[in-house]
Amino acid sequence: MMPKQKGILVIISGPSGSGKGTIVKELIQKERYALSISVTTRKPRFTEEEGIHYFFRTHEQFQEMIEQGEMLEYADFCGNYYGTPKSYVEEQLQNGKDVILEIEVQGALQVKSLYAESIFVFVIPPTLDELRSRLTHRGTEDECIIEKRIKRALEEIKLIAQYDYVVTNDVILKAVSDIHSIVRAEHLKPKRNEIWKEYTKGDDH
Ligand code: 5GP
Repeated sequence: MMPKQKGILVIISGPSGSGKGTIVKELIQKERYALSISVTTRKPRFTEEEGIHYFFRTHEQFQEMIEQGEMLEYADFCGNYYGTPKSYVEEQLQNGKDVILEIEVQGALQVKSLYAESIFVFVIPPTLDELRSRLTHRGTEDECIIEKRIKRALEEIKLIAQYDYVVTNDVILKAVSDIHSIVRAEHLKPKRNEIWKEYTKGDDH
């Protein structure tokens, strides 16, 4: 029997308001995916719960986690720290799950140097006007933060060339299906789908 395939690390980035959060919620309906829950020093929004949306920690606690080597990556985003706990990701990949990290670009670039075999997907809204409108109407952020996030979005978009795929989020289910297809195709690459090796066993020619 073929050994179980190791999972794939799927990095999903995109500006605030790109809809990547909604896409991720849809993706994890499928059993093959595990979602990494990040740690942040940001205050919870009124809809958010500890351990479901984030692990909310103080700056000191976050710093301690970094020092203990518990973070796979971390970054400062609009004045707060965000990071991925390493142990969960490694455990799930070993179990054959495809692990989703929904993270911003600085953190994504750190992952790139650590896990060369990850897939990097950047989600963008169909137009810049749409992005502004989604951010402004979200209702969870004040004006100053909205401006900061728009500025940050434009900086992030400049780094798209570092990603493997760009998915436009116009119709949500289409974007979800695009990402499923990307992951599925990755699993079929010969380096992962090693079924062909069975055919060449004992082949000395
Ligand atoms: P929000 O405050 O809107 O929840 O997240 C702000 C940004 O931080 C988003 O782009 C989100 O993808 C990113 N983010 C969330 N968790 C992490 C993480 O663990 N690491 C990094 N580098 N970015 C994260």
